[in-house]
Amino acid sequence: MTGPRAGVRQPTFYNTLGRHLEAFEPLEPGVAKVYTCGPTVYNTVHIGNLRTFLFEDLLRRSLRFLGYQVTQVMNLTDVDDKTIRGAQEAGVDLDTYTAPYIDAFFADLDTLGAERAEAYPRATEHIAQMIAMIERLVERGFAYEKDGSVFFRIASDEDYGRLSGFDLEQVRQGERVASDEYGKEDVRDFVLWKGAKPDEPTWDSPWGPGRPGWHIECSAMSTEYLGETFDIHCGGVDNIFPHHENEIAQTESATGKPFVRYWLHSEHLIVDGDKMSKSLGNFYTLRDLLDKGVDPRALRYLFLSVHYRQKLNFTFDSLDACGAALKRLDELRFRLEHAVEKGPSRPAVAGACEELVAGFGEALAEDLNTSRALAVLFGFAKTINRAIEGREMGTGDVARAQAALAEVDTVLGVLDPSRWPAVGESTGPSDDEIQDLVDRRNAARADRDWGAADRLRDELVALGIVLKDTPDGTVWRRGS
Ligand code: AMP
Ligand code: ZN
Repeated sequence: MTGPRAGVRQPTFYNTLGRHLEAFEPLEPGVAKVYTCGPTVYNTVHIGNLRTFLFEDLLRRSLRFLGYQVTQVMNLTDVDDKTIRGAQEAGVDLDTYTAPYIDAFFADLDTLGAERAEAYPRATEHIAQMIAMIERLVERGFAYEKDGSVFFRIASDEDYGRLSGFDLEQVRQGERVASDEYGKEDVRDFVLWKGAKPDEPTWDSPWGPGRPGWHIECSAMSTEYLGETFDIHCGGVDNIFPHHENEIAQTESATGKPFVRYWLHSEHLIVDGDKMSKSLGNFYTLRDLLDKGVDPRALRYLFLSVHYRQKLNFTFDSLDACGAALKRLDELRFRLEHAVEKGPSRPAVAGACEELVAGFGEALAEDLNTSRALAVLFGFAKTINRAIEGREMGTGDVARAQAALAEVDTVLGVLDPSRWPAVGESTGPSDDEIQDLVDRRNAARADRDWGAADRLRDELVALGIVLKDTPDGTVWRRGS
């Protein structure tokens, strides 16, 4: 059996194949092998693409949190129609053209705090594997050569359409065919190898010079790195058809084995009801947002706050709300740093820490329910804030609470501002955070809760803040 090993919590994922929630049982217990379709590096990715890449970052971090060892592979599509056209227009070779976009892609991942996958294979470096797979398909009768190109014979695959529910009969013979695909036996067949055209980069093959089609790139690279059958394959929902459907058809026909066990797809980032896309022109790059002063930490939080299978409507207001939520969490962090421990450790604090880690893990195990995981975190923040204000933190409780936060941050990756240099507030509390403490102290005084007011004053003094109560209210300054 392939059930979870000790210490591993078994998650449930929504599998696009079969369209249902399914308990995750990897081929090898405790190990998750994940392939994620990467960017086409013909220009800078937009934040819609980044939503999908950060969903995949969430998946790998969650699997690890739940006890799995993760191997994630993400391809870089550095040869296809768009990269070739871009290189031709710029008058440079393919590598020169794609190099800055590959660098920009990794810079964006770093800016958003995404972890690196274990491998980023490039299509141009795996042409031999693609040719080998196409040869197998031709030998087994699933593909045929025509005028230097090779096509997948869709009529040979009885199961075609099982991922997307696509009905082959709906695509009729005689429909318009792309100009470079005349000669197909059947209009529904798709290209595996494109025969050479003038001025295009080419590689030698048994069918003459040419280049691979897009779909075969992912089949060849995923099986090369993860095996002919592996656990999870991801992408955005627009990848389901035809890309992933074709990947299944060609890989299973070539190997005779099941290809992927769990297909996970993230929904789109949308703008006013439309998918954010280059072709609609309704997109922002991460650079656009940084130039507008957007905090990348708030964008990461925004992606986490909405379940990956829901459409996310992008607005600046929602980014502001995420910034405010982060402020509350920052405040908890710095109050913990300055909290005074008194007496023995409190069972209530230890209990809250255990509940945070357990509740957070349970939420993730339910198809990555991040909104619930964040609700668990805010419940914890409330409990700990109350304990600090009530002087209910005993020996070791601060470290315990900090450790629990650090543990959930292995998935969230947003709680430690010192890892986000762009935010620029890694040296102590911000003015807003201090003002918030001053306001709380004023509220306690208004309620005649002198104990709480004094404790807040102590906390402010410990932070080096000088308070002065005047007839017009409390003013403060940072001590020298
Ligand atoms: P591409 O470079 O076009 O292959 O896209 C890279 C990834 O971004 C793919 O997994 C797409 O499914 C995904 N993607 C494209 N547009 C969006 C969007 N608006 N929201 C979320 N993901 C997207
Ligand atoms: Zn792919």
